[in-house]
Amino acid sequence: MTTITRFAPSPTGRLHVGNIRTALHNWMLAQKASQDGGSGKFMLRIDDTDPERSKDEYTHAIRADLAWLGMHPDGEERQSQRLAHYEEAFQKLVDAGRVYRAYETAQELDLKRKVQLGRGKPPIYDRAALDLNDADHAAKQAEGIAPHWRFKLDHASPIAWEDGVRGSQKFDPATLSDPVIRRADGSWLYMLPSAVDDVEMGITDVLRGEDHVSNTAVQVQMFEAMNAAPPRFAHEALLTGKEGKLSKRLGSLGCDTFRERDIEPQAIIALLARLGTSQPVEPVADTAVLVDTFDLSTFGRAPAKFDDADLERINTALVHQMEYAAVKDRLPKAMGEEAWHAVRPNLDSVSGAHAYWKIVTGPINLPEFSDEDRAYLAQAATVLSWGDDPWGALTSALKGSTGRTGKGLFLPLRQALTGQDHGPDMGELLPVLGEDTARRRLERASSSC
Ligand code: GLU
Repeated sequence: MTTITRFAPSPTGRLHVGNIRTALHNWMLAQKASQDGGSGKFMLRIDDTDPERSKDEYTHAIRADLAWLGMHPDGEERQSQRLAHYEEAFQKLVDAGRVYRAYETAQELDLKRKVQLGRGKPPIYDRAALDLNDADHAAKQAEGIAPHWRFKLDHASPIAWEDGVRGSQKFDPATLSDPVIRRADGSWLYMLPSAVDDVEMGITDVLRGEDHVSNTAVQVQMFEAMNAAPPRFAHEALLTGKEGKLSKRLGSLGCDTFRERDIEPQAIIALLARLGTSQPVEPVADTAVLVDTFDLSTFGRAPAKFDDADLERINTALVHQMEYAAVKDRLPKAMGEEAWHAVRPNLDSVSGAHAYWKIVTGPINLPEFSDEDRAYLAQAATVLSWGDDPWGALTSALKGSTGRTGKGLFLPLRQALTGQDHGPDMGELLPVLGEDTARRRLERASSSC
């Protein structure tokens, strides 16, 4: 079976975590279909019918962000290049009597809504324009007033679908306004082009935020009016900040910020893949595992709460697992695999390796040592020998000869060798420093004052 999903951002800004999550889930749905032996495709559809607000720079940024996250679309469409398709579908709907002309201004509609609300009625468009006759339309035209166009919902045909997340959904079309689908200047609103594209791109699964549920109700009738079977729908609960709202901060939190903070794309994937589901959010390094366990039935109805602390935690845990080959290009040139393994457990992010590498290359700043410690370090310099485990050999020799234990045994050595009180495991770091540097540092510390 073929599964074709799509991510349909409007290029009116950068992607934020909420969009990224929607993209990811669509990508995973397609990946899962391929993994299960069927075929899966993930399409990028740029919803750029609004020429005022859509910008090419955002389209480029969307592509770049998806690529950075490892989600490579199997195809791309841009709505601005498909206007002829919308025109054609529109004309068919006009001919079938499923769209009609209306002239109310925004103020008039607003007033109607206020009156309805004042009477305790739901603010649904009253279809007054359906009563206009040819002469009324001609009069408007003579006045130079162009119509906008509404899709006429079929009140006799109840709307229902089985939602992948929300279960059985039912809408009485009479409780919905006939949506405006085209403005008086001929430009398109979201509703019809999206349905046309979903049909023509063969989209089998539309997975999007629950803010689109009422759009889906309308679009179900649009698909039917176009003689097309609606795709499967699933609406996921929205992403909110941990305080429970989609904050302004979250709305602008995107890949740029993540890159600046040196967050691994995999950390974002691992977090967003399962956030809001009943599955544990874990630092999963292998995306195939996330795809394998991806399951819409585990998605909850409550908002998914995004917490930066979770992202940091997952990022840190993933960095600790990263192989040298995967990070090599982002490390100091001379930093080899042994050094990466030595510092990796101490890092919150890959870029933190640069600071640790400075410990290896020096110069390092030494603390002030007591006379006793200087004598101890002088002895360390003479005892130092280079075998498989120079740190183990050094410390056990010193322990035997000086009787020192614990902090007294280790801390002066660490300070002399690294200039720091804390840091990577010395057993791993000492071989990276090398015998000459280690001896030189111990000698220098022993004669420091
Ligand atoms: N451009 C719409 C949005 O960003 C797409 C919604 C959809 O997935 O159909 O909300």
